[in-house]
Amino acid sequence: MNCISIFQHYKTLTNELQPIYGKNEATAMARLIIERVTGDEITKIFANPDLILTPEQQSLVRYYLSQLKLQKPIQYILGTTNFFGIELQVNQNVLIPRPETEELVSWIIESNKIGSPSILDLGAGSGCIAISLAKHITHAHVFAIDISEKAIKVAQQNAASAGVDITLAQANMLAPPAQIQGSPFDIIVSNPPYVRESEKQYMQPNVLNNEPSLALFVGDNDPLIFYEAIAKLAASNLKNNGLVYCEINEALGEETASIFTTANFTDITIKNDINGKQRMIRARKG
Ligand code: GLN
Repeated sequence: MNCISIFQHYKTLTNELQPIYGKNEATAMARLIIERVTGDEITKIFANPDLILTPEQQSLVRYYLSQLKLQKPIQYILGTTNFFGIELQVNQNVLIPRPETEELVSWIIESNKIGSPSILDLGAGSGCIAISLAKHITHAHVFAIDISEKAIKVAQQNAASAGVDITLAQANMLAPPAQIQGSPFDIIVSNPPYVRESEKQYMQPNVLNNEPSLALFVGDNDPLIFYEAIAKLAASNLKNNGLVYCEINEALGEETASIFTTANFTDITIKNDINGKQRMIRARKG
């Protein structure tokens, strides 16, 4: 019988992952795997270092390790991630929510002064923005679209398990459906595709090989196509004084701002992310 302790499995995982991911990430991954397999917090494992895994749990550990060695993102392997304190399901049809997007959500929540605002999210993906806003802004009415039917399914499941009531629809923000038009919103938010094809060379292979290109990339000849569509949509579907918030390409802050200036928006603010990169924009209608 194999009596390797859970703690020993944790150490082996860390050691095997370290050459690929470095010490910090390897430790974090080992912890996530052990917590998933045992259903216990790692602190509990550390407190009982002699506990052992069942054969089924051991084979699960081996499976997760083999997937990580193939450089698959751990969020897709485990099928979940945490965003703004909310457990979300993710698969290869949706982008893995980024900490920068949590910053965008915080900015919206902190700035909001409207009771029961109506909010539109363009390009919902996993639903991370729409769901966290619905959860943290009291009585918000959230409507979200995504071009991908498969992403909408993920977002629907996530909304249901987070216990929020939001409306999700499959639609292309470049050709917005009648449903959106004529229903003025207080807030429009979007994290559209913004990575230029030429910037692929700077991206990690685990992103390039696993995350949906549809959610990430834009052509070099028209990199702000989505912001032009968002500005147009916001100009006609925001209430007066309504706000549009977007995540942006750090290299295109000024160009993105000028789209909103040209569309007659005011109070245009670019905000840096935690890494000091221009990552978010906010503009006011009227
Ligand atoms: N920040 C993401 C990345 O670098 C891109 C998100 C997006 O295109 N909206 O992978």
